[in-house]
Amino acid sequence: MSGLFTAAFLRKIGWDVDVFERSPVELVGRGAGITTHPELIEALEASGAGTQDLGIEVERRITLDREGRVIAERKLPQLMTSWDRLQRLLRGTIDESRYHLGRAFVRLEQNGLEVRAYFRDGSFETGDLLVGGDGIRSAVRASVAPDVQPIYAGYYIWRGAPNESDLEPATLESIFPYYAFYFPERQQVLGYPIAGFNDDMRPGHRRYNFIWYRVGDADRLRQMCVDERGEQHDYSVPPPLIRKDLIAEMRREAEAIMPPVLLDCLNKIERPFFTPIYDFSTPNIVFGRVVLVGDAGASSRPHMGFGVAKAAGDAQALAGFLGEYEDIDAALARYNDVRQPYGERVMLHGRKLGTHLGVNLKTEEDHRMWQLLQDHRAMMDWIAVPNFLAA
Ligand SMILES: Cc1cc2nc3c(=O)[nH]c(=O)nc-3n(C[C@H](O)[C@H](O)[C@H](O)COP(=O)(O)OP(=O)(O)OC[C@H]3O[C@@H](n4cnc5c(N)ncnc54)[C@H](O)[C@@H]3O)c2cc1C
Repeated sequence: MSGLFTAAFLRKIGWDVDVFERSPVELVGRGAGITTHPELIEALEASGAGTQDLGIEVERRITLDREGRVIAERKLPQLMTSWDRLQRLLRGTIDESRYHLGRAFVRLEQNGLEVRAYFRDGSFETGDLLVGGDGIRSAVRASVAPDVQPIYAGYYIWRGAPNESDLEPATLESIFPYYAFYFPERQQVLGYPIAGFNDDMRPGHRRYNFIWYRVGDADRLRQMCVDERGEQHDYSVPPPLIRKDLIAEMRREAEAIMPPVLLDCLNKIERPFFTPIYDFSTPNIVFGRVVLVGDAGASSRPHMGFGVAKAAGDAQALAGFLGEYEDIDAALARYNDVRQPYGERVMLHGRKLGTHLGVNLKTEEDHRMWQLLQDHRAMMDWIAVPNFLAA
């Protein structure tokens, strides 16, 4: 996302941009839901990607109890999009010949005026600027700030997106149109509708984005990261390799705590997968002619649903300063001054919301926040709401 946004914005100010993507195949079908924010909508318009058929609007939020009864609700219209739709809109801004699949960045050299990026296939490219939009495990960041490492939050999520057509009538009626929440002790379950395969938004063809937050320490995570073949992974396991016994255990535990409509969603996810939650920020996001954008520069826990909006904002600010200043280095210094503290603020806000799960509470403020968020109505007022930094 950050790479595509950067390319779109830099092209608009007349730069020559190429995007190098590690994956050898098109990144489609990821199926993840993305909550939108006004900043994201504005950046999509300004980048030229536009917002056509961006997503599904939910009118309200609801919280369920163990039986599936609505115990609280809030009117809060919000547009829910998906990773696939955003990718498609942004790809439309870039000439096919400037988007290069199968080019994994491995290292760089710079001399103050130019940067050379080397790729795993032995090729290299030289430019005025190298923008690392390569995500939370950024190889670009590892080249310039090797000590910066994402920090495990002490919890992870099970997730997936069942097809609308597979869900029971009661599920379709009671939760499908809404941003639905359920808060068992030290857990969060949430869901919302997103487009179906191929961005299909027709009723009957959509999906329901389902997320279940659970606490698990580093040992537990290490054990979860042993795959079906007995191989240990560092951070997460590719969905097809997640151990069957782990999935069976998760399904059993869900039976014991979930309202029937949420259980229906989970049971209709053919291949649930887990994602450990990490965050971090770094004191600098500019290193000579190397710049970090999006999750590479700072990544927050997903409670605000703001990662793509922040990635878009980084790209927009970078191009804004490069367009404004004659001198590239002065523009980059300004980018660092403005966006580094911003990324850190967003990251800290995510930690605040994460206190709900009661992991690693240290300060009085942590405990105060934890207390506040034990009320499900407060959670509806804080989770993924627009303009949260202004509050
Ligand atoms: C559970 C969960 C829910 C979320 N929900 C939301 C939400 O509702 N709303 C929202 O806005 N955000 C959400 N986010 C956050 C959002 O997904 C990220 O913030 C966003 O994807 C960051 O974009 P990025 O481009 O910086 O990184 P990425 O999306 O990780 O993209 C990095 C790209 O770089 C490529 N790459 C990696 N290494 C290399 C290399 N060495 N060479 C070349 N290419 C490379 C990768 O293949 C990938 O295409 C969520 C995140 C999680 C985990």
